[in-house]
Formats: sequence, C-alpha cells, structure tokens
Amino acid sequence: MPIDATQPYDPNNVFAKILRGEIPNRTVYEDEWALAFHDINPQAPLHVLVIPKGAYVSWDDFSARASAEEIAGFVRAVGHVAREAGLVEPGYRLLANIGGHGHQEVPHLHVHLFGGRQMGAMLPR
Ligand code: 5GP
Repeated sequence: MPIDATQPYDPNNVFAKILRGEIPNRTVYEDEWALAFHDINPQAPLHVLVIPKGAYVSWDDFSARASAEEIAGFVRAVGHVAREAGLVEPGYRLLANIGGHGHQEVPHLHVHLFGGRQMGAMLPR
C-alpha cells in the first residue's frame, strides 16, 4: 500500500532497519550522507536504491528539512553510484516515488537507479 508522504517518520521502517544493520543488504556504496544497495526485487539488470542516512519520509520532507550538506551529499552519492556502475555513457533512469499517487511504499526517502537496458517511455499512458 502506498504511504502518506505527510506522515511522521517511522523509525521501524525497513530502510531504517537496513541503516541500523538490523536487516542485511547488498551494499553498493556508502558514505557519510547516503547508502546505496541493490533492490530486493530488481526491475532492471541494475536496480539500486540510494537513501539518505537522515530520517526523512519522502522527497517532500527531505527537500523541506534537510541541510544543504545533506542534500548535496545525497545528490552527489546518486551521481557517484551511476558513474561507478558505468551507466553514464549508455544512460540510466532515476525515479523517486512520493506518497499516494507516486505509489511510494517504503516511508524513508529513496531514489531508484535503473540501468543496463533500454528503459522505454517514461510512464504508461
Ligand atoms: P517504492 O515503491 O517505495 O518506491 O519502492 C520500494 C522498493 O523497496 C521496492 O522496489 C522494493 O522492492 C524495495 N524493498 C522493499 N523491502 C526491501 C528490503 O528489505 N530490501 C531491499 N534491498 N529492498 C527492499
């Protein structure tokens, strides 16, 4: 079920547990600001989730409350992961689902990074 993007942060969400090391993950990259790991149900040859280390529900929450350092660190981490995966020349897709219409399921901000195949049209019509 999609979440309400205006809900308070739930410290027991699955990505919070991953950040605390309570649930295993296949880490691709980690730094002070972000963790990147393989999606458990990949939708492309490469499907990585990049999450900020801070407790933010959604893009809305992050863009409103995060510090400039956190935002820069997170955005740079997304770019770094794609670059290191060799995706810049062939291209890739970033996707962030927010709230109900966005069909966001996990209430900790995450950017999906898809690569390794032609992604096709942006959205189903
Ligand atoms: P959303 O719909 O919220 O944008 O996407 C949530 C994503 O998290 C889905 O692609 C789903 O496969 C992934 N996911 C959910 N639970 C886990 C988990 O425990 N580990 C990993 N690696 N990915 C998860």
